[in-house]
Amino acid sequence: MTAAKKTHRITLIPGDGIGPEVSGAVVKILEAAGAATGLAFDWHPYDAGANAFEKTGEYIPKVLYDSIEKNRVALKGPVTTPVGGGFTSINVTLRKKFELFANFRPVKNLPGLKTKYPGLDLVIVRENMEDLYAGLEHEVVPGVVQALKIITEKGSTRIAKFAFDYARKHGRKKIHAIHKANIMKLSDGLFLRCCQTVAKEFPEVAYHEHIVDNTCMQLVMNPYQYDILLTENLYGDILSDLCSAFVGGLGLVPGANLGTECAIFEAVHGSAPDIAGKDMANPTALLQSAVLMLHHIDEPATAERVQAGLEQVYREGKTLTKDVGGTSGTKAFADAVVAAMEAPGAAA
Ligand code: NAD
Repeated sequence: MTAAKKTHRITLIPGDGIGPEVSGAVVKILEAAGAATGLAFDWHPYDAGANAFEKTGEYIPKVLYDSIEKNRVALKGPVTTPVGGGFTSINVTLRKKFELFANFRPVKNLPGLKTKYPGLDLVIVRENMEDLYAGLEHEVVPGVVQALKIITEKGSTRIAKFAFDYARKHGRKKIHAIHKANIMKLSDGLFLRCCQTVAKEFPEVAYHEHIVDNTCMQLVMNPYQYDILLTENLYGDILSDLCSAFVGGLGLVPGANLGTECAIFEAVHGSAPDIAGKDMANPTALLQSAVLMLHHIDEPATAERVQAGLEQVYREGKTLTKDVGGTSGTKAFADAVVAAMEAPGAAA
């Protein structure tokens, strides 16, 4: 075992539901990977949501805000949001507070896992702060409620630029802007105009536009036709869950909330109350989010070690969780990834 040379301070929000189980598994795997690559993690754990409110009277305690501001990187488990009332989504609040304008979600198959669409590799770039998620709703008169869809030139241009920059940097060939501008002519129309303007600066990236309902059909018929889906907040949220099904489900797909100052890494999935506390949750999605985080903090060797261990477990297919056809629990899966990383011949 190599002595730790470098320490990263990371804010950890375990979350609720399956959050503590999947984040516990991920911390264990990262600790093991770091021990081998000379990396230490100084985790700063904080509750958020209902758990935090019970203990502190705040849904997002000030100490959590301060910690993210100071560390600039957080790993976050899912947090339950009450439906049809109650407190505002913790996720939406954090994204707005730290201006995490880009939600980056790669959808890729893992080796050894049989899916209907082998070899799929697409990326969803979702605007993360505007749209109906601005949360501006009011009752006009009893029985009539209005929700405001906010789309700005600044926000749309910024997310389009992010997607095209990513395409250029990573040799991606094609971007589809996904919209409903046939109906929402002003708001989605503005989003599209901004995408078109940015696209002109990237002639090497093919630019297309698809209407969101058609996109859902096209995705199910032939997801290979897409490379990067560039879209607004609500469509991006829905398309992410849809696309997760192509590669094995919500237990797999990671995400990064990125801003210019801070970043929060979290899975696409929610708190999965139906399986919480049963050692059934698949930690792969949060683990792959942590891999994105390791690249973000410029620790590619540790990232590659974790990814290689994860892929080895899938390749072997002996210790998988139930959602992907296995019979193992969260803890056994995490142990298998650690063992795979430590096996002779594993990545550096
Ligand atoms: P969900 O993603 O929690 O669950 C949907 C289905 O996928 C469930 O059947 C669940 O068991 C399964 N699933 C999800 N993650 C899994 C995993 N890692 N392993 C195995 N199976 C998994 O969606 P939901 O039920 O609509 O939402 C539950 C709660 O989560 C809601 O309060 C919602 O607001 C919240 N939520 C939070 C986040 C977040 O914190 N970023 C994201 C989405 C939803």
